[in-house]
Amino acid sequence: MTNCRKILTGKKIEVKINGVVIDKKNPLIIAGPCAVESREQIITIAKEVKKLGATALRGGAFKPRTSPYAFQGLEEEGLKYLKEASEITGLPVVTEITDQKYIEMFEKYVDVFQVGSRNMNNYTLLKALGKVKKPILLKRGMSSTIYEWILAAEYLAEFGNTNIILCERGIRTFDTYTRNTLDLAAIPIMKKETGLPVIVDPSHGTGRRELIEPMTMAGLSAGADGVIIEVHNDPDNALSDGLQSIYPIQFKKIVEKIKKFMESEI
Ligand code: PEP
Ligand code: MN
Repeated sequence: MTNCRKILTGKKIEVKINGVVIDKKNPLIIAGPCAVESREQIITIAKEVKKLGATALRGGAFKPRTSPYAFQGLEEEGLKYLKEASEITGLPVVTEITDQKYIEMFEKYVDVFQVGSRNMNNYTLLKALGKVKKPILLKRGMSSTIYEWILAAEYLAEFGNTNIILCERGIRTFDTYTRNTLDLAAIPIMKKETGLPVIVDPSHGTGRRELIEPMTMAGLSAGADGVIIEVHNDPDNALSDGLQSIYPIQFKKIVEKIKKFMESEI
């Protein structure tokens, strides 16, 4: 089955965000709220996570929600606030694109295009993002096999973009105690199979605030090149994913642990 791949054959591919290479020695630490809720909220959190050691800012402006009645995101207004937060802090912006019709709009505001779990199989979107020059954060589909995930990345590569960062964000299993089951084995497998950097998302991977720290460290031990974590100033009142969002004080501790871990690896 692996011979269906022409480009992502396992040879290491260097991926950079705004000129900075992503690898285990220089882990990507993406932090921020699940969703951009207001100008003030995203600027406040951006400043906070920057101060604590984040290397990129996350925040959804287009939110693919299970319920049509749930907060759908601020859309272009949210992208503008993200850009402003990025200009203030110097952090590159990572945010989800839900439809190819937004590509031109995203080009103006965003540094990394995120393909969410619900869109990993959206081959029309993947083909269109293949033509984009900026890096793509490709999350694993919540019910996708490793092989399907590899081929989703191959779509981006085949259509012209090998600047891909893979993200393990948990899969659906029989167990509902956690929101998803974080598939740690997928991390070394995807690194070896594709040659691309792989990061871990303990927030969507577990859905539980108290599990973010241990699963961050587990992901890094498994060889992850970084992490994406939901951090919120007021998680109890977050418009989405409050239960899995950590407080800045918890993020501070996690960054310290990541740094210690990196030092011990050298
Ligand atoms: C997110 O990052 O906010 C998100 C919606 O993630 P996923 O696509 O992994 O569910
Ligand atoms: Mn979320």
